[in-house]
Amino acid sequence: RILQVSSKVHSTWYPASFFSSSSVPTVKLFIDGKFVESKSDKWIDIHNPATNEVIGRVPQATKAEMDAAVASCKRAFPAWADTSVLSRQQVLLRYQQLIKENLKEIARIITLEQGKTLADAEGDVFRGLQVVEHACSVTSLMLGETMPSITKDMDLYSYRLPLGVCAGIAPFNFPAMIPLWMFPMAMVCGNTFLMKPSERVPGATMLLAKLLQDSGAPDGTLNIIHGQHEAVNFICDHPDIKAISFVGSNQAGEYIFERGSRHGKRVQANMGAKNHGVVMPDANKENTLNQLVGAAFGAAGQRCMALSTAILVGDAKKWLPELVNRAKNLRVSAGDQPGADLGPLISPQAKERVCNLIDSGSKEGASILLDGRKIKVKGYENGNFVGPTIISNVKPNMTCYKEEIFGPVLVVLETDTLDEAIKIVNDNPYGNGTAIFTTNGATARKYSHLVDVGQVGVNVPIPVPLPMFSFTGSRSSFRGDTNFYGKQVSSSVKWE
Ligand code: NAD
Repeated sequence: RILQVSSKVHSTWYPASFFSSSSVPTVKLFIDGKFVESKSDKWIDIHNPATNEVIGRVPQATKAEMDAAVASCKRAFPAWADTSVLSRQQVLLRYQQLIKENLKEIARIITLEQGKTLADAEGDVFRGLQVVEHACSVTSLMLGETMPSITKDMDLYSYRLPLGVCAGIAPFNFPAMIPLWMFPMAMVCGNTFLMKPSERVPGATMLLAKLLQDSGAPDGTLNIIHGQHEAVNFICDHPDIKAISFVGSNQAGEYIFERGSRHGKRVQANMGAKNHGVVMPDANKENTLNQLVGAAFGAAGQRCMALSTAILVGDAKKWLPELVNRAKNLRVSAGDQPGADLGPLISPQAKERVCNLIDSGSKEGASILLDGRKIKVKGYENGNFVGPTIISNVKPNMTCYKEEIFGPVLVVLETDTLDEAIKIVNDNPYGNGTAIFTTNGATARKYSHLVDVGQVGVNVPIPVPLPMFSFTGSRSSFRGDTNFYGKQVSSSVKWE
């Protein structure tokens, strides 16, 4: 069953099973296999970022509701951990099929709540789906190790065992992919899971929960609560929660890592980024400029792997006017509009923050070569739009360089040598992703070996690892000792 939500500009669909039928739909909780209305008296509005209309309300779950969700996970754990690996695998095999069948519907909800283009939203689901497909290999992934005759008459075995109740806290920018980084892998290994999606984009997670239930996941194996700080503190402190997966900002991530660890939990926290694209003068110009424009401005720059900083080395600085021309031609509109290359930012506050950071660039002596602050999008005058913006003559001490902007803004630095570029990248506090553009193999090798960054692309702008590898990150971009979803690696993942 689906319920139509009408709005002035959009009319879209939310599945009615997890929204109530009041005029502004309220997002339900998912507790013990049931979509239930919260009794909370604290609610948060969900806005369509293209119009700023209120399209729904999400509860801040009460303490009793959160307790009930953890108790449900805890009750479900022993039977689920004892369920054969083959049976758990079957649930995931059905799940990947249902996600494929519902991919467009999930994407539509993402575009409505998050603002990204439908193509980006489908990519968001698809990258999460790949993790679910990878989780289907659990029969190989969970193999332990053996050493016969480790000493006289003695063999040694190690097993991979589930921990118990695990929890996930997700950000707004990938409403499907990041929850799918979290619960499928934990659950296929026999853990039960408490998910707290971003309060700004809960819809995709709710539909994903319904599809998991339809795939045969027993009641209580996945529970969903909503909220902000109270829900986060609850997760960090609850003695029955054994591990936390977090993805989001440094402000929240470092707090959650510290508070969760203090309570004895295993915490993995993927956090902020300032990703550099280093452009060598011997790069393929056409390919490089196209890649840079897509990676800086796609999804309105609200990707943790966006290439938000370009370092033009030597004569590559001459390409700047052409870069500006390409960026100018991008079409900014609501994510569901045909031909849109980038949509709005998530909120008016995010727009104001991005505009202030652009202002800071001009005040501190940089040049605004392309200015998206005043953009007007016809038919969407109230949306949180910022057009592609390019700031050049940026120096590492400027605020627009130091802060993660998380908007469609490319800051451009120039150096004479590769060594200077490497120093800038390694002096930056973040180490999430980076790319070098060059046709010289020795240059590529030198760069990828000397930068201290989690993901490194060579002529690949957003080198997000496929799930059989892990999403890594170094320095301020990651806290914890096990990475998300794939094989654990101690150094960076490189794409060449
Ligand atoms: P956010 O930190 O504001 O929110 C993430 C989650 O933490 C949400 O569920 C939110 O409810 C909760 N939260 C927010 N502030 C909190 C606080 N002060 N205390 C406790 N909990 C809090 O992040 P966001 O704005 O939703 O997402 C954008 C950020 O996520 C960017 O910094 C981006 O780089 C990062 N990100 C990183 C990766 C990665 O893999 N490294 C991937 C995606 C996004």
